[in-house]
Amino acid sequence: MSDSYRALVVDRQDGETVAGIRTLTEADLPEGEVTVRIDYSCLNYKDGLALTGRAPIIRRPPMTAGIDFAGTVESSESPDFAPGQAVVLTGWGVGERHPGGLAQRARVPAKWLEPLPEGCDTKWAAAIGTAGFTAMLCVIALERAGVAAGAGPVAVTGAAGGVGSVAVALLARLGHEAVAITGRADECRDYLTGLGAHEVLPRGARAEAPEKPLLSEHWAGAVDTVGGAMLAHVLAEVRYGGAVAACGLAGGAGLKTTVMPFILRGVSLLGIDSVMCPPAPRREAWQRLARDLPGSALAAMTEVIPLAEVVEQGEEILAGGVRGRVVVDVNA
Ligand code: NDP
Repeated sequence: MSDSYRALVVDRQDGETVAGIRTLTEADLPEGEVTVRIDYSCLNYKDGLALTGRAPIIRRPPMTAGIDFAGTVESSESPDFAPGQAVVLTGWGVGERHPGGLAQRARVPAKWLEPLPEGCDTKWAAAIGTAGFTAMLCVIALERAGVAAGAGPVAVTGAAGGVGSVAVALLARLGHEAVAITGRADECRDYLTGLGAHEVLPRGARAEAPEKPLLSEHWAGAVDTVGGAMLAHVLAEVRYGGAVAACGLAGGAGLKTTVMPFILRGVSLLGIDSVMCPPAPRREAWQRLARDLPGSALAAMTEVIPLAEVVEQGEEILAGGVRGRVVVDVNA
């Protein structure tokens, strides 16, 4: 490979955030043990925030964006990785404090890389990316909290988004009655049913704060990607002893609720972070994804775009207009 590579760089110019493709060289790669030739990156909600500057995700611009990548090891100073090995990276501050994955090359510490599970390729890994990995962490957290298959309906909010789509597919595969809650019920009903949703519900009143601290008991569990009023509403509907895995803020970072679900129904609120998730649960989640996420569902929720279309899609994901997962072919 030549010394130069293409990267989607976010910069600040005259107080505005600008994102564009630049040609970088070896000298632009940071210090690190492993250099990776990237095949695919992907688009997550956080990438949308970074590319538009809507939140200060990129701390020291100019910097290459992209919180995930999947590719092949080009060179390695670590005994844990050898040239030619397929790897994936999500989180660890890549695309935030460290040059990101929306590029043809990256260099990172070895401990941030995950070898691909047996039989899985880099496109599969990028299609999952941070969003799918987070959905898996949510499902594992619900399992550990005692939400068993057959226990009752499990709600997924923001169901047509990236985390939501993978969560629906995983829950359905694992025998749960996955109920997709979405602002696009008409448009996405067939899509979500195809992923395995038992039922597709419009946001309806759940977009608003609950009118009472406790509502009728519906959910054995929930995966919440929305936060704000919707999380408060869903918490008030969880059955006795149930749990909610909270990972997102697409509808707001605030949470105005009462302690009633916790102290009268024994409900658990489980916080999910994918960025600094330690190596052991990371490995477990990737192994589980290889086992439990049906390839047909992943294919149905994935669209592939070239690097040149990422900025436009970054606006779109913040507007709630992206369905499922967007893989970025950085070499297209
Ligand atoms: P997407 O944009 O793909 O999905 C978000 C979904 O939320 C949308 O598709 C939409 O679903 C719903 N939504 C959007 N805006 C609103 C709104 N104003 N009110 C109610 N619902 C809304 O994003 P991702 O799946 O990539 O991420 C989802 C969330 O999870 C984000 O907040 C992201 O920051 C967070 N996240 C957190 C991680 C962690 O480590 N904790 C890791 C990954 C993501 P629909 O159309 O179906 O209603």
